[in-house]
Amino acid sequence: MSSLEAPTFPLAPNSVIGILGGGQLAMMLSIAATELGFLTAFIDPDPHAPAQKVSNHIESAFANPETLLLLAQAAQVITLEFENVPDQVLEQLEHSVLVYPAKEIFKISRNRVLEKKALVVAGLQVAPYWAILGGPQLEGALVGVGGKGILKTAELGYDGKGQKRVSSEAELRAAWLELGEVPCVLEGIVPFVRELSVQVARNPQGEIAVSGVYHNTHVAGILRRSVFGDHLEDGTRENAQNMARTLAEKWNVVGLLTLELFELADGTLLVNEIAPRVHNSGHLTQNGGNISQFEAQIRAVTGLPLRDFAPGLPCMMVNVLGWEEGCEPDWSAILRIPGTHLHLYGKKNRAGRKLGHVNIVASSRGSGSSGAGLSVREQISEMLERGAMVERLLFGQVAL
Ligand code: AMP
Repeated sequence: MSSLEAPTFPLAPNSVIGILGGGQLAMMLSIAATELGFLTAFIDPDPHAPAQKVSNHIESAFANPETLLLLAQAAQVITLEFENVPDQVLEQLEHSVLVYPAKEIFKISRNRVLEKKALVVAGLQVAPYWAILGGPQLEGALVGVGGKGILKTAELGYDGKGQKRVSSEAELRAAWLELGEVPCVLEGIVPFVRELSVQVARNPQGEIAVSGVYHNTHVAGILRRSVFGDHLEDGTRENAQNMARTLAEKWNVVGLLTLELFELADGTLLVNEIAPRVHNSGHLTQNGGNISQFEAQIRAVTGLPLRDFAPGLPCMMVNVLGWEEGCEPDWSAILRIPGTHLHLYGKKNRAGRKLGHVNIVASSRGSGSSGAGLSVREQISEMLERGAMVERLLFGQVAL
């Protein structure tokens, strides 16, 4: 990248943003980029990649030097929708075009061992952990993390895949064999009271903006629901936002970073993992007022001014997951609920697959005949009720 001539920021309208990956995140990034007057093109081997509806598709493997060159020549900046991109892909691109975030950030976020070390060096706290790079390191690992743990592959795990809970030496050895004897990290079980996430965007000029803090609920390792405005104490919110700012500054991030956090009963925040990109938990920013996480990432990588992107109103998101044959949700019933916004990605249905999401935004006005304004607390409880209706329509029940 050092051999590149620095472009003038902000990039001019009609500049081209290249994206690696063509899933729903790339689709929504492209929509935000288009609205800001940019053009987009993306590489993805999937002929049905969702982003092709709104962006120019270069259908190719990622590690294809010819198509990478094509994208590098067409684009003024490249950004990514996922982190599992081989190093040589980013290296090739960085020779001829700006890539944001830089490959060092992807190296960290792709590998749980490097990630935890880098987080601790930056002064943040993580769960107790033990790196297992080979069989001999299984010795003493379980005791080292408190007698019970979760064994996770160091690389390529997502949505709870590539991980096993263990509570004895025998289970730990069996789990390591089952995961293919690859490098892993054993984490102690964290007795969290809530799972939270927070985001930060930083542009090449060094301007920083943070998101609100979202409260996330998972079912079977998959995000079910994210809520913004869920009675979060001021101290916890500020703490989370400061952690995000610290990482963006210390790691010189250009682009957007998401931090997944565990909140302990005493308010301590541990970082579970980071993603150098927009994130499922940030989808609620699309409809709550203010700029969305997608716009924040695009503004960051094109050098446009940034501003904090906490939604203006309480809002929440419920994921739409693939349904069993004959059980398609009643979309009209969902859309009839006040405050709902349906986002579908156009992907083929497969049970459990992320196919879309529903955002639900609190009403800012009184709903009674008096027209009196609702307090924030009332807005939130009304929104949660509507969210529960959406969840029942999608899943038949509400996850606790
Ligand atoms: P991950 O893929 O690391 O984000 O893990 C998926 C989910 O598993 C998290 O969102 C948590 O609900 C749970 N989990 C992961 N690591 C731990 C841990 N160390 N202690 C307790 N729960 C965890």
